[in-house]
Amino acid sequence: LVATPRRPDEAAFIAHCRARGLAVTEQRLAIFAALAASRTHPSAEQIFLAVREKLPNLSLATVYKNLEALRAAGAVGDVNTLHEQGRYESALPGTGAGTPHHHLVCVSCKKVLDLQDDRFDALRVSARLTQGFEVRAVRVQVEGVCPDCRARAKAPSRSRKPISRRR
Ligand SMILES: [Zn+2]
Ligand SMILES: [Zn+2]
Repeated sequence: LVATPRRPDEAAFIAHCRARGLAVTEQRLAIFAALAASRTHPSAEQIFLAVREKLPNLSLATVYKNLEALRAAGAVGDVNTLHEQGRYESALPGTGAGTPHHHLVCVSCKKVLDLQDDRFDALRVSARLTQGFEVRAVRVQVEGVCPDCRARAKAPSRSRKPISRRR
């Protein structure tokens, strides 16, 4: 167990886990710290690579297990993007984006950016349409092509292979 928090967001994380009876392990703290330090919504694999330097014995399966435990406890949020691979972010007040928000997703490179728009926050779904669901959140995912990918599409390809000559 971890004795003293090193940063304010780690203190918030430790308090959050303890309030929910979730053990604060070195692994969970390292995973959360990696997420709190990032605004790129990394995948489990990217988190694994970032944390492995600190905890070389950590496996990808353990990262998945811990992410699921942290997600269930509300310390980590998952972002639904266009591909199979889940993406994660810290979900505690004062960490990462801090508050509930929406996302911009590049359909080409799968980049995920935070999008704050209070008009989206005000979206409500009519009870007539929710088919018995108790609505917890309405999240907007705006899909498009990011500036990097747009620039790449416009630029003439430098990696184009020369046309092979006939013999
Ligand atoms: Zn892109
Ligand atoms: Zn986000």
